[in-house]
Amino acid sequence: MPFTPVHMGPGLMFKALMRSSFSLMIFGWTQIVMDIQPLIVMISGEGHLHGFSHTFVGATLLAIVAALTGKYLAQLGLWMFRMRPLITVPIAWWVVFLSAFIGSYSHVLLDAVMHGDVQPFFPITLDNPFLRWISVSALHKVCLYSGLVGAGIYYAMNWKKPETDWR
Ligand SMILES: [Zn+2]
Repeated sequence: MPFTPVHMGPGLMFKALMRSSFSLMIFGWTQIVMDIQPLIVMISGEGHLHGFSHTFVGATLLAIVAALTGKYLAQLGLWMFRMRPLITVPIAWWVVFLSAFIGSYSHVLLDAVMHGDVQPFFPITLDNPFLRWISVSALHKVCLYSGLVGAGIYYAMNWKKPETDWR
């Protein structure tokens, strides 16, 4: 938080590199699930902005939640946009879980670099060793350029070897 969509840059790079082993829709859904707790804190004005959701323990639980809820949401979305039949080509569970875990752990890491109140290794330590690993502007550039390069690689490879994979 507060820029959930920024996380989609690295997501595009994962998609370009992992292809059909990775679901961009599950990854994106995981980013939304991860930022529900900070959103509630921002609206209500109460609580720890990046609390339990932005720890690796919390991210493990939220990845499972995002995987279990996201599989059918993503399949429904694909079916609604007529990109994939609803039943015949489901997203494999291992792809769903892999994408959700990559989504939630990378989310904690990126937010920990940016926000001082993230405690990634709670309850072992409240320290945030990732804070300002790189500057905030460099972090935003990494997210932006990984998205642009990832999208470029993905479309270039699809152009050479056509494969419709919108998962
Ligand atoms: Zn966040």
